[in-house]
Amino acid sequence: MEKVILIKYGELSTKKDNINFFLKKLKENILFVLDDLSVDIDYDLGRMFIHTKDNFDMVADRLKKVFGIHEINIGYIIESIDLEIIKDEVLNLLKEKEFKTFKVESKRSNKKLNTTSLLLSKNLGAYILKNIKGLKVDVKNPEVLLNVEYRIHNTLVYFDKIKGLGGYPVGTLGKGLLMLSGGIDSPVAGYLAMKRGVKIEAIYFESPPHTSVEAKNKVISLTKKLAQYNCNINLHIINFTEIQEAIYKNIPHDYLITIMRRMMYRISAIIANKRNAKILINGESIGQVASQTLTSMSAINEVVSIPVIRPLACFDKLDIIKIAKGINTYETSILPFEDCCTIFVPKHPVINPLKEKCSEYENLIPYKDLIYKAIKTHEVLNVKVKEESEFKDLL
Ligand code: ATP
Ligand code: MG
Repeated sequence: MEKVILIKYGELSTKKDNINFFLKKLKENILFVLDDLSVDIDYDLGRMFIHTKDNFDMVADRLKKVFGIHEINIGYIIESIDLEIIKDEVLNLLKEKEFKTFKVESKRSNKKLNTTSLLLSKNLGAYILKNIKGLKVDVKNPEVLLNVEYRIHNTLVYFDKIKGLGGYPVGTLGKGLLMLSGGIDSPVAGYLAMKRGVKIEAIYFESPPHTSVEAKNKVISLTKKLAQYNCNINLHIINFTEIQEAIYKNIPHDYLITIMRRMMYRISAIIANKRNAKILINGESIGQVASQTLTSMSAINEVVSIPVIRPLACFDKLDIIKIAKGINTYETSILPFEDCCTIFVPKHPVINPLKEKCSEYENLIPYKDLIYKAIKTHEVLNVKVKEESEFKDLL
């Protein structure tokens, strides 16, 4: 009998023809988060198995950040399908535990076993009651829930069920470019896109000296938090100062934000194309601010043809905050450093911008040249989950 970590796939198991592609990616992503440990991974269509001599709880903890995992169990493989052998092995495991009540749950993927899951549970339960004195079955609230899976070539036994994140393995649905500001919304939007299997790169617009190094560091630290789910992230940093100043000086102030965002979209679409990202992702939420009315979103969106995915479009702010707290980005997001949008924010931004006016105003500045320059000089950081200095105990 070997102690192992067992992984259940959940929604992944609905993939029929290309399930192997999904599982291969899941294995790759798991190996990435466990790369400093000694592990072996194998899998079949129902389960993935992680063999390790390292600390099981620590491994399980890291798996909680991998998308595509529905459930994690620390359990045992019994290399037999003989019911008598299984009973004895289960008894050995239970003898190491202290408890008074239990329940057996069985799953039977080996349909050759000429019985039902319910009968298997009853039989094993009776055997346990007979061999360990003082126990009782409690089907509602057992101290020990014993799960047994009767498979074709072997049997799995486990007690605890640890909930995984669900979703699809990052990278199975291609790549997207996340427009990442230092705010609360965009990290959550990135998280939700990754959950659907999209690998992300991020783009951040800064306006030094109007925005500070602290504001930039805040975005880097948010990127690092998201990188835990994504196996590192390329962060594209665009110097937006000249564009913003040109807009500020030449364009009626009620259109500042609309035009600024059209420029951000144009630049993001070009970077996405260069990086083979198929979508833009952002944290826009309908009605949140003047630039997120339906008319505004339409006037801003018209400058790009790449699909723009807004995972938070229909979320309330309070629900967004709940997720931000859950993924540990909230505390960083609320640090009080200025964003390039907030500095140039007009008193009365237009709520229903007209597309013709947008084009007319934009033509007052040499925006194509400015965009070209901003992209040409942009900086790319490969943000890693762990910097080498954080591994110093291993070096
Ligand atoms: P967040 O929406 O992330 O809380 P915010 O509320 O300051 O930040 P909004 O003005 O609501 O940002 O902008 C909507 C979306 O536009 C953001 O969620 C983000 O995706 C994108 N965005 C805004 N500012 C920037 C920036 N400086 N760099 C990159 N993307 C940005
Ligand atoms: Mg917002």
